[in-house]
Amino acid sequence: MSDFTARLAGIRDRIDLACQRAGRPAGSVRLMGVTKGHPPETVSEAVRAGLRLLGESKVQEARAKIPEVMGGADWHFIGHLQGNKVRAATALFSCVQALDSAALAQALQGECERQDRRLDVLIEVNVSGERSKFGVPPGVAAEVAGAASACPRLTVLGLMTLAPWSADPAKARPYFAKLRELRDRLEAETGLALPELSMGMSGDFEQAILEGSTLVRIGTALFGERPTWRARQSDALVE
Ligand SMILES: *Cc1c(COP(=O)(O)O)cnc(C)c1O
Repeated sequence: MSDFTARLAGIRDRIDLACQRAGRPAGSVRLMGVTKGHPPETVSEAVRAGLRLLGESKVQEARAKIPEVMGGADWHFIGHLQGNKVRAATALFSCVQALDSAALAQALQGECERQDRRLDVLIEVNVSGERSKFGVPPGVAAEVAGAASACPRLTVLGLMTLAPWSADPAKARPYFAKLRELRDRLEAETGLALPELSMGMSGDFEQAILEGSTLVRIGTALFGERPTWRARQSDALVE
């Protein structure tokens, strides 16, 4: 068994255990491998080992990397999407997890029409209010969800968040609870179905599962420390 296969099995075991503790069915949480900073060969090894859901947070890096990675994976964009990267992102990803404005929803809608594609979206919510974090304040989530659900090419699946960093994973749990409560309120107020809660990373994913996460985004615990692989200059210029 390769190191990666062993780490993948270990993470899957921890996800199953957390599901058990939460009284949730095994298989109710999807595992995303966050591949930012890692070279295409490492990512292909992960796909070969059976990891099929992958996330990138920079369009330029993804654009150089994804064509070099073995096929068969589903790619989500998990970073802050700038207006001038909407075209490239629409072509590369099946889901934009960090929708944070009505204007971005409309830009994605226009680009989906142009490329004759559809996109899933999650609304990124800044539940902690930290100034260093992207995402909409909880009070604005309904407005953005409404704007996105009015876009025929977009499917709003739910919410996404990042908890503040802490050495103690238990400290993250209240933020995950807040995202779930916000989701419940939004469903009641808007009538939208928002089944997806993308929350939990290497350091806190078990806490997120206890609060209802349906998708955990794991980088370091699967791939090790990030070596910061960068797009080649020639690719960067195409942007
Ligand atoms: C980098 C990143 C992750 C993964 O972080 P790890 O701590 O390495 O697991 C998850 N979500 C987002 C949005 C990220 O940018």
